[in-house]
Amino acid sequence: MKLSWLLPLTVISILGFCESSWAARLTYWKFNKPLGRVELITDEGVKPEAHFLSNPSRVIIDLPDTRILKAKRKKTARGTKFVREVRVGQFDRRTTRMVIELGSQYTLNPDNVEIRSSSPTRWFIQLPKVLPLDQVADQGREPISIDVPEVDSPPSWPSSPSMPPGRPTPSDPSPPSDPPSPSTPLPPVKVGGMVVAIDPGHGGADGGAVGIGGIQEKIVVFSISHQVAEQLRRKGVRAVLTRTGDQEVDLEPRVSMARRIGADLFVSIHANAISLSRPDINGLETYYYGSAQGYRLARAIHNRLLNSTSLQDRGVRQARFYVIRRTSMPATLVETGFVTGSQDAARFRSAAQRTKIAEAIAQGILDYIQRR
Ligand code: ZN
Repeated sequence: MKLSWLLPLTVISILGFCESSWAARLTYWKFNKPLGRVELITDEGVKPEAHFLSNPSRVIIDLPDTRILKAKRKKTARGTKFVREVRVGQFDRRTTRMVIELGSQYTLNPDNVEIRSSSPTRWFIQLPKVLPLDQVADQGREPISIDVPEVDSPPSWPSSPSMPPGRPTPSDPSPPSDPPSPSTPLPPVKVGGMVVAIDPGHGGADGGAVGIGGIQEKIVVFSISHQVAEQLRRKGVRAVLTRTGDQEVDLEPRVSMARRIGADLFVSIHANAISLSRPDINGLETYYYGSAQGYRLARAIHNRLLNSTSLQDRGVRQARFYVIRRTSMPATLVETGFVTGSQDAARFRSAAQRTKIAEAIAQGILDYIQRR
């Protein structure tokens, strides 16, 4: 998904649209360079959600239940040396996503991004002063939710002693102990009765991201997910896939299915993308939302993947992805690499490497179950 799934704009052309089912439209947008702000006109009822991602620095504005007016579907505005470009695309069938990407040497303080509306249909995303990266103290590489008054308040941190306050960075916090390396045999795991929902992202008309050589996210993640489920079943875990073939499943049914089957854990598997012009961006990102258990699950899987693949570490991050925000059980979303990255796309093309990724995810899930 998503997230952060920065879909290349080419994806837009392969998404099927069901025009009548959309609640709202983005009818106009513009990057106002002199004022350093993005201006939007939408139908009424749209509630933008904003996040900040770094490396490269990006402000992400999601418009849930919104589609782009047909004429505007593919759009990139070239920026300045401070704001490299602004892209708008249909992120998934329900969400329009705007990405404001800063120049590679710049960042900004996400706390100072302002989303204002002058009427129910007019929005301004005002960027603060853009700062040179080398003059800014390390803010970590975590996505940061930007407070938008009309939107759900950001998550409050649980008071669990194992979850430090504030935003974790990739180097901290550490789990209580490092997981054994994959070559160390694990002690027997009490997994009887555990139910794990494995959620292969996308499917059917929603192909997800498209990467180098036309590699498709939905196909890669299904191959991995299927093998994760197999690995878990061999260990006595009841693993259930939210899609069992190449069919389209909306996000809400994925979440409700997990609840219906009484899943103890929810693991969504995706592949990342940024832009076909950035094959240099590769690596693993593992997401959670809000809870300490979600963080620990994400961290366990992330560590196993780093140990057994050559994936670059882009951190365990927090983000408001639907499937990890709406699930009631500990949940994580793994972006197993970039289909637009030269190293990661090559890894995805290898059946042996996909199996390695799947084994590491399954092992991470078992690590988490064992240490609950
Ligand atoms: Zn995805």
